Amino acid sequence: MLFEGANLYARWRSSPEFIPLLHSTSTKPAERLLQVIWHHQRLQRDRLHTIDGRSVKVLHPGFWSHEGGPDFRRAVIQIDNETPITGDIELDLEESGWQTHGHDRTRTFNHVILHVIWGTPKVSKTSIPTLNLMDFLDSPIADLEKQLAREKVEPWPQLLHGNCSSPLSSLGPEALREVLEQAAQVRLQRKAETFIARSKQVGWAQTFWEGLFRALGYKQNGWAMEALARSLPQLSKEAKMDVTTCQAELLGMSGLLEKSNSKDFKGNNYLRSLWDHWWRERERLREFILPLQLWTFAGVRPANHPIRRLALAAHWLVRADLQRNVESWILSDSTDSLELEKFFQVSEDPFWSHHWTPGGQRLIKPQPLLGPQRFSDIVINVVLPLFWARAVLGENHQLRERVQKIFFAWPGAEDNSVLKMARQRLLKGCKGSVLKTSAMQQGLFQIVRDFCDHSDALCSNCEFPALVKAFSNQRQKDVPLAAVP
Ligand code: SF4
Repeated sequence: MLFEGANLYARWRSSPEFIPLLHSTSTKPAERLLQVIWHHQRLQRDRLHTIDGRSVKVLHPGFWSHEGGPDFRRAVIQIDNETPITGDIELDLEESGWQTHGHDRTRTFNHVILHVIWGTPKVSKTSIPTLNLMDFLDSPIADLEKQLAREKVEPWPQLLHGNCSSPLSSLGPEALREVLEQAAQVRLQRKAETFIARSKQVGWAQTFWEGLFRALGYKQNGWAMEALARSLPQLSKEAKMDVTTCQAELLGMSGLLEKSNSKDFKGNNYLRSLWDHWWRERERLREFILPLQLWTFAGVRPANHPIRRLALAAHWLVRADLQRNVESWILSDSTDSLELEKFFQVSEDPFWSHHWTPGGQRLIKPQPLLGPQRFSDIVINVVLPLFWARAVLGENHQLRERVQKIFFAWPGAEDNSVLKMARQRLLKGCKGSVLKTSAMQQGLFQIVRDFCDHSDALCSNCEFPALVKAFSNQRQKDVPLAAVP
């Protein structure tokens, strides 16, 4: 190895414990190693071509995705002299992986613009341009394995920082907080506008439920959950609807109950009781049953599976006092968020506290139906924007002030892939703890939506860096952010 002999740290890196992180075998590199090589573009980049002979220029390798779906998102490549295109990159050890892994049948792979493979064959069975990585490494694979073994813990090469990362890093912490909080204020307002518009059609109560269901769907199933919430008025109006009956109707209308098979039924009294009720209601509710393809299961953790979320929602619906309790907490002067959380918690569900899926094994330890992070997301994305909207519409300044105060003080929520990427691109990979409050995280989300989503991985035509520089200059002259153009 070049350079490494005398340096102590380099010797640590070459210790035997250091190497096996990427788990290559003697015949094939680990897929992880290929991803690291692509991420760092350890390639002879001027020579790249597809296996059918077209030249490939990688203008941006894309952002490494750890969430299922294609390995790299929003790459920018140019094939021959065609116009550069933006899309996803999928890496597979075998060319046949495209079919055997089912990528050809999964819509999350519809935007793949380049299939990167290792080794033979010389022809591709897909219509997607295919590049054989083996032909273009800038060093022998064994050397790359040694050099890149630790890159998984330091995965962001500097060249992937966004153009705004330098101006943002030159702002002090106070100025950065000011930018993020002002962006968060805009985000709160945008959400409130959506709630106001919907409430004019269906009233506040139904708007509240639609917001809650959407939040329970996370980003994968938000639309499906909201679509289901729109059919809540169709639920049976029996005066004493119990939780299992409500779960049967929600799961039935979701279309997810139809997925259960004879194996799931074996010794499963709970599933039988769902079907006992659903058979009776199915015809009446047939037109509201959602198609299965509306739901996404890839990358969804068992605890967040939509079936489990609907089981939780059934408890809220049957209790019928959730909205009233939330409203009285907001209208009070309590600062105890645990009091609010208590209204959303379900002490125990006889089935769902002990199972991830309808046909799954009983869990060793009972699991809560709602974790603290999801509760936090519900407060930030639904409860506070909705009450802020009501305060604005009702010109209730006191309520508006109270909601804003809670919003800006609420502690930071769980990290997620959008935040991680935004921290890397905009804030040069600063730790999650720098974003101390949910509002600061929301501000970062808003900047991504307003700027990153309208640009590309190369930050083409993005105005944000210039705006930050202008703000920085003005701030040195003590002009408040609101007055900066
Ligand atoms: S697109 Fe704009 S806001 Fe996003 S990282 Fe690039 S410069 Fe920053």
